[in-house]
Amino acid sequence: MPRPKLEELQLQRLQATVQRCYTKVPAYQEKMDALGVKPEDIKSLKDITKLPFTTKNDLRDNYPFKMFAEPIAKIVRMHASSGTTGKPIVVGYTANDINSWSELMARVYTSGGVTNADIVHNSYGYGLFTGGMGAHYGAERVGAVVIPVSGGLTKRQVMLWQDFGATVLMATPSYALVLAEQAKEMGVDPPRDLKLKVGFFGAEPWTMEMKREIEEKLNIEAFDIYGLTEMMGPGVSFECPYHDGLHISEDHFIVETVDPDTGESLPLGSLGEMVLTSLTKEAFPVLRYRTRDRTIIDRSSCACGRTTARMKRITGRTDDMLIIRGVNVFPSQIESVILTIKGLEPQYVIVVDRGASYMDDLEVLVECTHELHAQGDEAMKKVQEHIGAELQQVLGLNARIKVVAPKTLLRSEGKAKRVVDLREHNN
Ligand code: ADP
Ligand code: ZN
Repeated sequence: MPRPKLEELQLQRLQATVQRCYTKVPAYQEKMDALGVKPEDIKSLKDITKLPFTTKNDLRDNYPFKMFAEPIAKIVRMHASSGTTGKPIVVGYTANDINSWSELMARVYTSGGVTNADIVHNSYGYGLFTGGMGAHYGAERVGAVVIPVSGGLTKRQVMLWQDFGATVLMATPSYALVLAEQAKEMGVDPPRDLKLKVGFFGAEPWTMEMKREIEEKLNIEAFDIYGLTEMMGPGVSFECPYHDGLHISEDHFIVETVDPDTGESLPLGSLGEMVLTSLTKEAFPVLRYRTRDRTIIDRSSCACGRTTARMKRITGRTDDMLIIRGVNVFPSQIESVILTIKGLEPQYVIVVDRGASYMDDLEVLVECTHELHAQGDEAMKKVQEHIGAELQQVLGLNARIKVVAPKTLLRSEGKAKRVVDLREHNN
């Protein structure tokens, strides 16, 4: 769709969404009233900045159903975000919402060349988490065969790859690596023994280095996909075959970037916190949601022909950022360093603590390959020093590095937990 036409559609849908929020969700009405904004004030797309932000806390405060814009009779499904601390965020879907979501996920598959001739091995977790069902419905929409495996029982997953001949892998990037590792241990050689061609990975941050690892180890083309429970689940944006940012389905979402500290709108092309507004959702419409995800939006045209804006690969959430001795550190920076050094596995844990002198203490545990391990302590120590020097270069921080034996760190079946920050408990 040409951009002017797309923007016309966005405005129509935005006006309808604002009306829906104002009349059906008291929490939105209160916030809009407090700012003195009425639905009629939204006359152009620019007017979106008149609307209040919605934060995770707003959604939490309205637990479980108070942000729903439709009665239970119209809701056909619910999901919830993991909610590691306190209550989760519950979202609802009408039949139309499930339909749009399936359509958006079908775009993801289609962009990677998946058709009804494909077999999709879906290792995203089924349950309250949106990943499993989102990936499932999208695959059915393109007419592919879906194998609803979910996470876990890794050995069996590799057996199924071989026996069913899956061509498409759906998994978190960290679980894809666990699967690849298992395959190797079972003597499976992907080019020889598997039919996998493409994989769609998301639900957690992953670096370009991680992408290369996955592509090499599984002999596939890896696509980045992005989404979040609050906006629906996976399928908000996805890479096209040019792999130069993730196309946002702007007929369903309006994207803005703001300064994470002041909330001020940022011009296109600057790094900021992504803010999303839903345009078609019935049960759970969301106005200007503060995702806390940091990215850059690019509206230049893409070689693939899609006219939608692209977001740069997400380097981390604003709340993932660690401040260590005053230095801002994103776990992805550490990952990038580790994965460019030979002899290491893409398995690591970052531990931050406060030492006896109240100084922040950064420790990075990294697994080495079997080959390096076999060379003994001296060789491992050398790599250890190399990582330390590289991290010093990139972060300007001294870190304690521990290169550990293969398979000593905990593997994840869904989203990996790579950061342990012990400081909160020490304050
Ligand atoms: P929770 O918030 O409980 O982790 P979600 O599944 O809703 O549950 O997580 C959505 C979040 O996951 C996003 O806000 C983003 O931080 C992260 N995420 C999802 N996809 C990607 C991706 N492709 N790259 C980086 N981060 C991602
Ligand atoms: Zn493109």
